[in-house]
Amino acid sequence: MSLNALSTRLAARTLCSGNANALRAGTRSCRVHPAIHTRTFLGSFWSKASSPAHSAQASPEPASPAPAPRQEHLVHDATNAGQLDGTPSKHVAVSIDGDPRTFDTVFLRDSCACPQCVDPDSKQKLFQTSDIPDSLEGRCRTVIDKEKGWMIEVEWRNDLPGYGPEHRTRHSIDWLRRALNTELELRGGVRHDERVLWNKEIIEKNNKWVDYKDWMENDENFFGALSHLNKYGLLFLKNVPDSEESVVDIAGRIGTLKDTFYGRTWDVRSKPKAENIAYTPVFLGLHMDLLYTSNPPHLQLLHSLRARTPGGESFFSDSFHAAHQLHTSSAFHFRTLCTFPVTYHYHHPTHHYHYTRPTIELYPYPKYSEPTNLAIHRVNWSPPFQGPFEARIGGENQTALGNYRSASHAFEKLVSAEENLYEYRLNEGECVIFDNRRVLHARKAFDATKGERWLKGAYVDDDVFFSKLRVLDEKFTGKWLADGVIRHAVK
Ligand SMILES: [Zn+2]
Repeated sequence: MSLNALSTRLAARTLCSGNANALRAGTRSCRVHPAIHTRTFLGSFWSKASSPAHSAQASPEPASPAPAPRQEHLVHDATNAGQLDGTPSKHVAVSIDGDPRTFDTVFLRDSCACPQCVDPDSKQKLFQTSDIPDSLEGRCRTVIDKEKGWMIEVEWRNDLPGYGPEHRTRHSIDWLRRALNTELELRGGVRHDERVLWNKEIIEKNNKWVDYKDWMENDENFFGALSHLNKYGLLFLKNVPDSEESVVDIAGRIGTLKDTFYGRTWDVRSKPKAENIAYTPVFLGLHMDLLYTSNPPHLQLLHSLRARTPGGESFFSDSFHAAHQLHTSSAFHFRTLCTFPVTYHYHHPTHHYHYTRPTIELYPYPKYSEPTNLAIHRVNWSPPFQGPFEARIGGENQTALGNYRSASHAFEKLVSAEENLYEYRLNEGECVIFDNRRVLHARKAFDATKGERWLKGAYVDDDVFFSKLRVLDEKFTGKWLADGVIRHAVK
């Protein structure tokens, strides 16, 4: 598209209202129309400022010749100019999609991404928000950039120390629109949630198997696998090489492994006098790992190296699905699990972990009461690692513990209901990956005398997982998700 055609199209879409009265008093109006804007910009606003020279660098695309300005703009700008040294105006209005939108100059200045403000290589911010003077004022004009389209360019008055009058801040209209949308959604409590709740029937229909090679070598298949894992909290890999390093390679494809006191990887196989119940052949009930730590692992990987003993089937259950069911059957039980503190611990001679958390954790966002889409952030459920209760254990609060007992009983019935349990016995060369903060896992007893059972395990933290998912999401779909808000990739 030629620059002129682009200009016409964008101007039609983003032309500023031009109505000074529509903008709040004291707000700098930025017209997304180069001609008018250039004129008003140079005309009066900076008359009291130290005549900032317009650097050719800062505006590579010269605006078209300026027609005579309309009178109301001059009046409006003159008024603003008069306020410069009096009561400073700290907002800039930009017309976006036909509506004047007001931006705080602190926001516009703070998010400046010019090479003076953000190191182009490290992308680290080179100033502090706390350094922005209270007296900061901005005035913008519009420019068009070949790559980024329409942009505002802000000149500063009372900029941060060390920044000269040549310093300009540029933001594309697309970027500003996204910033507005993000704020709107965050404040409105909108939450995009890609998780699909499942019971046995749903997961049996939707289970995904990925070939080890596709996981390791094909970015698109890998992205599909990670998206599925994010949606269902459960994923299976097949044709995994028979090596103790395979689980490292699989996890390493996502990112850095989470090291714990169990080691960077660990073995699940039966051995005598085990220090952890997981290392014995007995039945291990539905649970999550490491809830006695402040940040339990997000993903757990288990690669089956040997499966030569009868029994030892794995079970999985979607605790989020059970939490939704509990909410439907008893909002009272649900609330009890959101508030009652449960202590988890790992108390041994060399390691002593101790952490208390409620069973259900909700997102702190407001306006999120849609019953079909509860704001469940995490579920914490790990009875084998529970320690003694430490709060509301008696006296006047006896009812609290009684309520917890009833609620946990109801929840346990839901997570372990046959229709909610997915059973699978891992074969050699298969690896399961599951969301340890959502999908509960359990193991049937097996007979260790009849053969070898050996799983190699690893963990990956939530930050690592979501970082990789965002990178791939942005690459393949042009958008990514953070804090429940979809952000479209813009320049
Ligand atoms: Zn800057």
